[in-house]
This record gives sequence, C-alpha cells and structure tokens, in this order.
Amino acid sequence: MAHKAAEAALERYFGYSSFRPAQEVPVASLLAGQDILAIMPTGAGKSICFQIPALLRQGLTIVFSPLISLMQDQVEGLRLQHIPAAYMNSTLEQDEVVALMRRLRAGQIKLLYLAPERLGSEYFQNFLCDLPISQVIIDEAHCVSQWGHDFRPSYQLIAPFIERLPKRPVIGAFTASATQEVERDMKRLLGLEKARVHITGFDRPNLAFSVVQPSRKLPYVLQFVEAHKDENGVIYCSTRKDVEKIYGELIKHGYEVGYYHAGLSDEVRKLQQERYAYDKVKIMVATSAFGMGIDKSNVRYVLHYQMPRNMESYYQEAGRAGRDGGPAVCVLLYSGRDVMIHKYLINESVHEPARQRIEMTKLQQMINYCFTTECLRKYMLNYFGEQVQWTRCDNCSSCQNKGKLRDLTREAKYIFKAIVDTEERYGAAMIADIVGGNRTDRIVRYGYDRLPVFGVLRDMDDKEIKGLIRQFVSLGYLHCATGKYPILSIEPAGEAVLAGESKVQEVRRQVVTVREEAYRNGSKGAHQVAQKWAQQQGRNGKKSLFDVLREHRKKLSEIKNVPPYLIFPDTVLIDMASMRPRTLADLSNIKGVGDAKLQEFGLSFLAVISQYK
Ligand code: ADP
Repeated sequence: MAHKAAEAALERYFGYSSFRPAQEVPVASLLAGQDILAIMPTGAGKSICFQIPALLRQGLTIVFSPLISLMQDQVEGLRLQHIPAAYMNSTLEQDEVVALMRRLRAGQIKLLYLAPERLGSEYFQNFLCDLPISQVIIDEAHCVSQWGHDFRPSYQLIAPFIERLPKRPVIGAFTASATQEVERDMKRLLGLEKARVHITGFDRPNLAFSVVQPSRKLPYVLQFVEAHKDENGVIYCSTRKDVEKIYGELIKHGYEVGYYHAGLSDEVRKLQQERYAYDKVKIMVATSAFGMGIDKSNVRYVLHYQMPRNMESYYQEAGRAGRDGGPAVCVLLYSGRDVMIHKYLINESVHEPARQRIEMTKLQQMINYCFTTECLRKYMLNYFGEQVQWTRCDNCSSCQNKGKLRDLTREAKYIFKAIVDTEERYGAAMIADIVGGNRTDRIVRYGYDRLPVFGVLRDMDDKEIKGLIRQFVSLGYLHCATGKYPILSIEPAGEAVLAGESKVQEVRRQVVTVREEAYRNGSKGAHQVAQKWAQQQGRNGKKSLFDVLREHRKKLSEIKNVPPYLIFPDTVLIDMASMRPRTLADLSNIKGVGDAKLQEFGLSFLAVISQYK
C-alpha cells in the first residue's frame, strides 16, 4: 500500500485519487529509501512514481534524462502543477544557468532534470556534490546498455558520480525495455545490484491492435487518415524515402502533416516535433527516429506503413498511442515485401553469425505476429514472457475476425498438389499458371495441361493465387528457395494438409478496425472510456462539447506556450464533456484535475461548458 501522504500529494498536485497498482511498489520503495529498478511499459505512468517521492522526501531529486525535449516536457508539466522543477541543458543561457544554480543552493528546487553529459564537467560535479541530493532517478535507464537500442555512453558516468556524493541517495531506474541483457547491464552499470526489481504487466488494454494486408498501402493510408481526421496520429515508415513520399501525398490531399527522420537538420527536427506537440499538425509521418522525445499523451493511432524488424520495436512504437489511457488504435500494414527487405538488411548489416541468427529469429516472430489467428494481444504478451489467463481480448483484429475468416484448405491442397505433381521444380508464377488454367507454351510443351489440378482455381485471378502462395510460404506450409530461383517446395506442415490431417485458415485481414466497433466489446476499462468517447465525437456536423473544449485548450496552450496535452489530457476533456461540471468543486472531482490547474484553468473551462448548447 502506498503511503497516505503520497496519495494526498497525488490528489493535490495531479488530481488522481489513487496510484495505479503498478505504481505502488516503486513509490513505496523510493519513500522507504530502497533502490528500485522498475520496468514498466510506455504509458504505465513511470514519471509519477518518482515525482511524488521527490516532493515528499527532504532534499533534491536529480533526474537523468536522455533528451532535451523530454526534459522540457516534464518540467513544463510539473511547473503547471506548481511543482518546483527545472532542467539544465545546453539550451540555457549563461545567466539562466547562474540563476538556476543560485536557486538550487537556496533549496528552492525539488526536481532537477539533467542530461548525463553534464557529468563530464568536473566543475559541475563539484557543484552538485554540495547540494543535499536525496534521490537520483535514471529515466530511460536502458540507455546505459550497449544491448539497448538507444545506447548513450555518458549514462555510464552516473554510477561513479553517485559514488562521489557525500551521502548515498536512494536510486531509482526506470525503463520500458525488458530484455535480459539490458536488465543485467542496468544492474551492473548503475550500481543497482541490490535494488528491488519491479516488472509490471505489459498489457495496454486501451490499445486496439490490428494487422491489415491491403492490396495497395497508399490508398489505405489515405482512407484511414480521412476516417481519423480529427485525431492525432503517427505513421511510421521504415525509410526516409517513404516518409517523404507519404508526407507528400498527405500534403497533396490537404492534410496538415509533420515529418521527421534522422536525415533532417536539428532545427528542422525540433520544429517538426514542436508542431506536433502543440497540435499544429495532427499527423506525424516519421521513421523510428521519432518518438523517444515525445510524451504526447493524446496520440489516438499509430499506423505502421511497414512491418518493423522485431516485436520490441513494434511494441515500443505502437505503445506511443493512448498514453492518456483513452482508446487508441495500432494498425500494422503487412506486405511480403517488408519481409524480403528486412532479410536483406539483416544479411547486409549484421555480420556476426550468432547475432544474425538472433535477428532472423526475432524477425520470424514478428512475421508470426502478422499471421497468427490467435489473439494478437495474447501473442504479444506471451512474447514478452507474460502468461495470460484469457484466450481472446475482443479488442484486436484476430479476435474480431474470429469466425469470419475463410477456410482455405481446398485451395491450399490444389496448390500443394500442383507443386508435388511438378516435382518441386518451379516458382509461384508457373504454379499459379497451372492451377489457374493458363495454357502457356511451356505448360503445353510439358503436358501440364493434362494434370488433374490444371485449371482447378480458374475462378480466381492470377494475383489472388500468387497472394495465396505467398501466405502459405509465410505460414510455413511451403518453402521458397532464397537463391537465384525462388523455387517452391512442401514443408512438413504442408504435407499434413495434403494428407488431410490439418486445415488452413485465411489470415489476410482486410478489415479496417473502426474504433467504436473495436471498443464495443473491448476490455473493460477501455470500454467505458470508449463509450464516453463515442458520445463526445461530433455527430451530424455539429461541434461536440469535446471539440469545443479541445479548441479552448488549444487557445490556452498558445497563450501559455506549452503543448495542449500538458494543460489537460484528452481523457480529462472527455470527462468534462460528459459530466458537465458547473462548479470548481465538481471540476476538481474529475480525474487528472489537480489544485494548481483547477485554480489556473478551472473557471475558463467552466465558462466554456456553461456556454455550450
Ligand atoms: P510513461 O512514462 O510510463 O510512459 P507517463 O508518466 O507519461 O507514462 O504517464 C502516462 C499517463 O498516465 C499520463 O497522462 C499520466 O498523467 C497518467 N497517469 C499516471 N499516473 C496515473 C494515476 N495514478 N492515475 C491516473 N492517471 C495516471
């Protein structure tokens, strides 16, 4: 159980009446002076886990954070809640630094955010050593590990720095990265051998996952974006070229879009990121370089234009949707080409054989995600080492398509038979010609038009048949040689089908997940939010109260010069719209409305609500 004082502070500053179950352990640990290594998924609410203890403990908390934008975001958020927080990084002018140092010495700051590179300065370390530091937090702690995907050498300066402090503070390390190598490194390199390790469930019930295999991706994207045009979303692409292509298309169709990849200059990237944070553009098209710096809580969808290389990357990127706990959709667009490109890149860029095998296995597990007929959420959680009790979540494309998928056993048998009858000597083109009944010169010359399977799938077109063949390869029924000739052969799973021992089910998911539908039967928590959400979405062209509140928030955000989601997350606006509070007391009952924001913004929101007809 978390401390009474901690709950009171949570209510007062953040407007939340209780900690989430996963937050209780880290909060209690830090308050008790016990080091903690907390591995929690994105959106679990890591920052509050150390911000509340920072407020309650005597002395100063230092928070090491990898990115300037991340620091600024958190500090601005805290300041809006009247919590004395500051950051020190390269964007500050000399006189600002001096002023900040004075405030630190005077004990006027409770949380100081720093980039670890700062520790490179002996002078600065000496300065810090004289401050009453009682807690050191390492955010995105996986950056210390070479195995992590965001290695930052200066994270390794943190442990020796802590050693130097006259009194050892309590240490908390937080990350969403959970592989074992990274965990081992975090313990060793951050001096956390004796820390309590807290790993929470990875489930994000408010996210609706789906895999779609559209015949053409671009039109799909345009249609998707149009269907979600009032919402914030991220479209991830694997290459800069695709980012530019999709960005261009969306601009051409009149959408307000940002774009982001590692090839842009720092200024352009900063500008693009800000435009997105401040809701100046609703859509961000980006490579995986975009994300860690952004804590935007009201991202309603993450669309992957390509399949990522492994499940870790996918879950991290998709997890940037719905941090505020409101419903959000995560759609992955699959195509066989993505697989080929990843295989090629792994072969080209990873040279050590052991590493290459690991990468290929991870890729295969990612492909299996795209093809499984099982619950996608269950598949993912199992992948991350979690056992779950249920078999369906009713909030992913697999669960929603249950019973709607075609049985493909008949088609599979014909195709496999054609491969066997031609002695496993041909690729997809020839096999498709045979079962499709295409009497080419070669087919006539070899007499394949006299095979019993000739023309058995005449009612399907060539593209469809080839699509099926590709699916059967991905599903492991067929093998396709990777050498010069992509020759097909039968795998044991395919033989079982031929022998009548197993069936083949369609896996192609054309269904577009519409949120309202996705949530009608969705997991409990998400269901309620979704209902309110659906009610608040403008119907019949009339602006809903939710929209009006969003506009008001945007205006305030411009006046205050902070991103809208820091003023209030979407979930608070939804509650305002459905509860229609009339007094400050009503308003303070809404989850996420703390004292400072109530005073600062309360009356203006009440006015908007009372004027709405
Ligand atoms: P993480 O860093 O783990 O990705 P954040 O710290 O950004 O997560 O928190 C995600 C969201 O959850 C934020 O909008 C935050 O205000 C909200 N949140 C955190 N703790 C609670 C709580 N106890 N009750 C309700 N909402 C919470």
